[in-house]
Amino acid sequence: MKFFNILALGIAMLCINATTLTAQQFDTYFADRTLRIDYIFSGNHTNQMIALNEYAEWDGWAGRRTNLDQLAVAGNGDITVRDAKTEKVIYRNSFSSLFQEWINDSTAVGAEQSYQFTLLVPMPLAEAEITVTLYDNRRLVQDSLSHHFNPKDILIRNFDRTEKTEAEYVWKGGDAKDVIDVAIVAEGYAEEDMELFMEDARRTCDILFNYEPYRSYRHKFNILAVKSVSKDSGVSIPRKDQWLSTATSSAFDTFYSDRYLTVKNLHGLHDRLAGLDYEHIIVLANTDTYGGGGIYNSYALTTAHHPLFPQVMVHEFGHSFAGLADEYFYDTPDAFTTEFYPADIEPWEKNITTLVDFGSKWEDMIPEGTPLPTTEGANRNDCTTLGLYEGGGYQTKGVYRPTPTCRMRDNSSPAFCPVCQSAIEEVIRFHLE
Ligand SMILES: [Zn+2]
Repeated sequence: MKFFNILALGIAMLCINATTLTAQQFDTYFADRTLRIDYIFSGNHTNQMIALNEYAEWDGWAGRRTNLDQLAVAGNGDITVRDAKTEKVIYRNSFSSLFQEWINDSTAVGAEQSYQFTLLVPMPLAEAEITVTLYDNRRLVQDSLSHHFNPKDILIRNFDRTEKTEAEYVWKGGDAKDVIDVAIVAEGYAEEDMELFMEDARRTCDILFNYEPYRSYRHKFNILAVKSVSKDSGVSIPRKDQWLSTATSSAFDTFYSDRYLTVKNLHGLHDRLAGLDYEHIIVLANTDTYGGGGIYNSYALTTAHHPLFPQVMVHEFGHSFAGLADEYFYDTPDAFTTEFYPADIEPWEKNITTLVDFGSKWEDMIPEGTPLPTTEGANRNDCTTLGLYEGGGYQTKGVYRPTPTCRMRDNSSPAFCPVCQSAIEEVIRFHLE
């Protein structure tokens, strides 16, 4: 549904090759500790800047220990950690950010703003060079920052002895270092709402594992319910002049869009999680107002008490966990003049194509004899008949999707399309194998 504006940038690449740093090599370069790096992304429509804000650390690393120097998908930004002495790449990860969405939004024209961002990397044993780069929708560098990191720096904020937010597993597949660790964070739940939060967290877990491929891989996940207490019940709705004191300070009306609920205070969100074992985040908002958002390798946010919660939660986690694109589009031809996906650039997201490099997408999954492009049949809930359907990524023309509908297109779709299922499975395996 139409409440988030995830950007579509770049060229798809899953580069697993013979030089991949394996789990066996993790201990050569990293301690079993987490290094959190807080950044500020700032700028305007034409100029962007990345600045380092602060380092933090704590015991344990819940992130992946394999494919350390590779990316699952390109993302709209990436981080690279190099050993300072040898310049060898020892860790990479990709992400997208709300800041990059904002600079392409009409509210950014003539404005200057800053956005918080946070990345987690395994703690390097030796001094390192860390580079963060943001890309625009033509894959051109918006800004890149390299900073030297010394693990002995006394200014790294240490969370080892800080009191952690109370947390409880609602699903445990294994030890944090062996599985994918998802934290469900309570947002807008007051002290007296915590039982309700635990019910909502268990329900979130059940819903997620009702979908393939999560169901088949459920033993490779940990789901941790994080009981971050809010002073108020509910979340902030600016258009109603409703401002509440909540654990992660989320608010609706992001970029003045009613249904776009986001967290801008990302450093604060990660403070709630400090010291816990987490690598992916679902913020659960205690409200029945419709909305949410999902940003690749940053977080998913959904509203727990709207009737469409199950569909929306799984959709948003599709963005934040697997970097899937929205397969919906706007029916009115001039509803959006912004070109999210330039015609001459293949998007990095696996579930849409501009046909620039269709061979790298689902071309080989389409049954022989299928007419391309493909026309939709009468079944509006068909999420299995693979083809090349025009419309996707907010655009009626020039962007194609794999099936008539999908969890990434419509709330009435019963499942993810086969292309999204395979993309999610690849991300799961990238974390583990
Ligand atoms: Zn799909």
